[in-house]
Amino acid sequence: MQVPLNDLRRTTATVADSRRAAFSRVLERGSFVLGPEVDGFEREFAAYCGVAHCVTVGNGSDALELALRALGVEPGGEVATVANAAMYSTLAIINCGVTPIYADVEESTLTMSPSSLAGVLSERTSAVIVTHLYGRLADMQALRAVARSRNLPLIEDCAQAHGAHLSARRAGSLGEAGCFSFYPTKNLGALGDGGAITTNDRALAERLRSLRQYGWDRKYHVAIDGGRNSRLDEMQAAFLRTHLPHLDIQNARRRAIACAYADRIRHPLIRPLPAGGEESVAHLAVVRSAQRDALRIHLERHGVATDIHYPIPDHRQPVMEDQGRRISLPVTERACAEVLSLPCFPALEDAELDHVITTCNTWVA
Ligand SMILES: *Cc1c(COP(=O)(O)O)cnc(C)c1O
Repeated sequence: MQVPLNDLRRTTATVADSRRAAFSRVLERGSFVLGPEVDGFEREFAAYCGVAHCVTVGNGSDALELALRALGVEPGGEVATVANAAMYSTLAIINCGVTPIYADVEESTLTMSPSSLAGVLSERTSAVIVTHLYGRLADMQALRAVARSRNLPLIEDCAQAHGAHLSARRAGSLGEAGCFSFYPTKNLGALGDGGAITTNDRALAERLRSLRQYGWDRKYHVAIDGGRNSRLDEMQAAFLRTHLPHLDIQNARRRAIACAYADRIRHPLIRPLPAGGEESVAHLAVVRSAQRDALRIHLERHGVATDIHYPIPDHRQPVMEDQGRRISLPVTERACAEVLSLPCFPALEDAELDHVITTCNTWVA
């Protein structure tokens, strides 16, 4: 049996007919950028997240960078983030002319540690970006308390956590701004690139609408510094509107898969990350092993595709050079050497899931 890590053909097949209808609708209307589909999606996604405003942009990386700019982060200074989330937040910070500083992560969840955050903030820090890694909400209550005590805006990186919620509050409504990616493999995915920022702050939303379109406050009138072209197109917005009604059901299936791994993988050298709870939407199902590379080869031999999210911590990336070498983040560094992602997508079949679990349990290390 061959089990893929993900299979977008299967996931999109469930909404193929409504996507064809969406395609025709947009084609026939003849409006392709910032039209009624984008308006409709922004309204529907804001309502879904439980916020007042959603501003769509070209991708999740732009969402992070424009959120920093709109919150008034100026060149110089520092922004705090984590180093185990594939450089996305680090790049947004660097692109704003700011130095990234890193909090270590919690051993149990691999999301930002509130006490580590408190230890790295300084007078020069102007914002915090928290990543809901693998689809699990970070400890927002404690992280907000730390950010509040310093009067710092908190940006959620929700690119892996569409729909995750804590009591009644969803990802994207727990900080000053929530940044989303709609890259095709994300829990809510377009058929190309896309992104959005959610917020309850009307003035912030207005600045973002300017920044995504050349810095215009009105047509051909550039009033806001740092603008660019970063818009979601009508076709992608229409596709996202067909996917959104299925998101909760798909997230429930992802969660059930991650729970099955957590409950049924019984091996002294494999530790699944905690699963379950509405605060996780299991974007990825991740296990840890000190012998990760050997486990990966074993799974591959038995037809099970895996990947590593992510192998290199941000401060060890080549572009970070000397600045990164001086930083030590023990929990982050150990995790990067041990994490392995198992197949997890809504259309994964039970027989495939069983095969992955059996293959893990019969591994002779
Ligand atoms: C995918 C992702 C991004 C970047 O989104 P793009 O749309 O690819 O630019 C940012 N943060 C996290 C955590 C992601 O998983």
